[in-house]
Amino acid sequence: MASDRYCIGCGYLLNRLSKNICPECGRWFDPDDASTFEAESVPFAWRRWARPPSNVHILLTFVFLVGCIVAQSEPGFPGGATLLAMPILAGVLVSDYLGRMVAVRLDRARARRDATEKRRTQRWRWAVAPLATIAVISGVMTRWPLQLRFHVSRTALEYAVDDFQAGQNGDTSKPRLVGLYRVDKLFARGEGNVGFRTSRRIRLDGRVQCAGFEFRPSSPPDEGRYRSLTPRWYVIEW
Ligand SMILES: [Zn+2]
Repeated sequence: MASDRYCIGCGYLLNRLSKNICPECGRWFDPDDASTFEAESVPFAWRRWARPPSNVHILLTFVFLVGCIVAQSEPGFPGGATLLAMPILAGVLVSDYLGRMVAVRLDRARARRDATEKRRTQRWRWAVAPLATIAVISGVMTRWPLQLRFHVSRTALEYAVDDFQAGQNGDTSKPRLVGLYRVDKLFARGEGNVGFRTSRRIRLDGRVQCAGFEFRPSSPPDEGRYRSLTPRWYVIEW
């Protein structure tokens, strides 16, 4: 005795019908193809997974994207929670995305025969993850998030240079917000040069690693750890 069949579309009980059409919503089904109806005896069907990325998937993709862009906009490299959480989140999102793609492929034969299925495909949902991936990779390659955040903060940074040189910064080892950056220390680095430390981290080998910006109006230093941002401004790591 076969178990009861229920309509995928509306849940109507489909037993003892003369046609393979749901009398309630008009949806087609094939009594010999367990993927075209719901039944307690059918615990798995590709149809259930053959859907575009969900709202949760898209929301988490945005969380991932914003997290990466913020990390890329800092001088120096991300550490701690970001370094751990981002690859895990990326792994979950990629598995979910590829799983859906495989399910759509394996469900294609059924979906093609399913003449009554009128659900909109919402193709744009498939584009979110690839676009986020392109944004993250381009951020790694060109460091545009750093450039963007620096340029938005530049006026505030230059005001801080003027104040520092006039001795009006108060306690220069007190953390402060300069533009969009949290600066935990300002310091003189030779004649007319001002350093802004934005991160200080103790590495696994016990060494202290710092990163930040330097305002340097004189000739550019040719040390490897200076990277030019714009005339007179550098990203430094030490
Ligand atoms: Zn129905």
